[in-house]
Amino acid sequence: MLLRILFGFVFTLTCCLVKAEPLTVEALGNDIYVHHGVHEDLSENYHGDICNISFIVGSKGIAVIDTGGSLKVGQQLHEAIRKVSPLPILYVINTHVHPDHIFGNAAFKQDNPAFVGHEKLPDAMERRRESYLRTNQQWQGEAFAGSEIIKPSVLVKGTLKLDLGDRTLVLTAYPTAHTNTDVTVFDDKSSTLWTGDLLFVDRTPSIDGDIKGWLAVINELKIHEAQNAIPGHSGLLKESNWKQQLNNEERYLWTLLNDIRASIKKGEVMEKSMATAAASERRYWQLFDIVNRRNVNNIYPSLEWE
Ligand SMILES: [Zn+2]
Repeated sequence: MLLRILFGFVFTLTCCLVKAEPLTVEALGNDIYVHHGVHEDLSENYHGDICNISFIVGSKGIAVIDTGGSLKVGQQLHEAIRKVSPLPILYVINTHVHPDHIFGNAAFKQDNPAFVGHEKLPDAMERRRESYLRTNQQWQGEAFAGSEIIKPSVLVKGTLKLDLGDRTLVLTAYPTAHTNTDVTVFDDKSSTLWTGDLLFVDRTPSIDGDIKGWLAVINELKIHEAQNAIPGHSGLLKESNWKQQLNNEERYLWTLLNDIRASIKKGEVMEKSMATAAASERRYWQLFDIVNRRNVNNIYPSLEWE
């Protein structure tokens, strides 16, 4: 009897745990939905939910843009999608390789979508597999259970069009900038551009690719026709505001580049440069002290050989 009660209790508990709590999403109109993560660094207190996660509903099916930092977040996203539409999930797009954007992919395996990413994404995922799994496990603990690397099955080289029925998504792959795997997604119906982390707003831009390459990509984005933009983190940017935010990002990157170059010219060691480069930008950006130091650490060695 006691065993039966116990079994019943465990059964109820597992039942309730299986169904994930849906992510809160903002309906932007035009059948576009976005979940906004919180501003947190990728380190000790990170809980896998810091980036923008979006889905677009077309007449034939749904496209997901980025899936969050764990299977759990991906499952919550799945629940949120099912509250909105029963249509098939046709595409799961990753804007780049960073772990806060890709680890929810596994929650969509059973939907059998095309996983879509930059032509260099499979290789980048493979190279980072071990360290990403280890560090994310460390940071997130139990909440990271079941998370895995799911590589793209459809690769973006140049541009690629995805058909959702009444709307077309145009994906563009870029040379190395924020990372070596950056893609943007443009939805013609709403004239909205998903920039991934090619555009940072509020949060200090973090460089894991090539600062000069990134500045070149910013010049391309500046002439993009999109009326609205959804960055990798933070809210929707309307009309001229998104170009203004691009200018802010460009200003930070140029300041950082020039300050490090000046520092090298003066013969300062990297430690010194880490403390002083781009200091004039500090008041404009969140997480500045951590991210800016890391940026100097990444860029300084390559600029020494200019
Ligand atoms: Zn990123």
